[in-house]
Amino acid sequence: MDKKTLIKLLIGYLITTGILVFLVIRKILIVSSSPPQNNFTEITFPLILIFFVIFILFLFIGIGIFVYKDSKKRGMNPILWTLIALFVPYFVGIIIYLLARKPIPQLCPNCGKTIEGKEEIVFCPHCGFKLNEVCPNCKKVVKSGAKFCPYCGTSLNQIEK
Ligand SMILES: [Zn+2]
Ligand SMILES: [Zn+2]
Repeated sequence: MDKKTLIKLLIGYLITTGILVFLVIRKILIVSSSPPQNNFTEITFPLILIFFVIFILFLFIGIGIFVYKDSKKRGMNPILWTLIALFVPYFVGIIIYLLARKPIPQLCPNCGKTIEGKEEIVFCPHCGFKLNEVCPNCKKVVKSGAKFCPYCGTSLNQIEK
């Protein structure tokens, strides 16, 4: 990611945080300047505010950890996507991430390496492990347990054993 995009994201985040802080401070000022002062506004309101801030903080940490782990698992750039999810304001970053994320890569049961299109290929390209059965007549990949080839109708009972 280039510096310009990073700076833009950072500015967007700072503006959002700034607006939020401004709104909260204004709210406090309105509450504290209103004449009938009571225990609720003096004690409970700041407490709610603190809990709210802690909640938002934990939400951010949670989202950060989730996006980092999830994007890593999917072979996407984890740092880039964590930054996008956290710093693009109004949760737009998370929505972008959820829309853009790749499917979880499938792994070879023998060598553990990533295989693209595991369902459509016969052998692992890394170790040669047999992944799928092939129709003896038309040579197309068929699902294990299928009784007949879905392409040519050949009975597949003989390849089960
Ligand atoms: Zn393999
Ligand atoms: Zn066939």
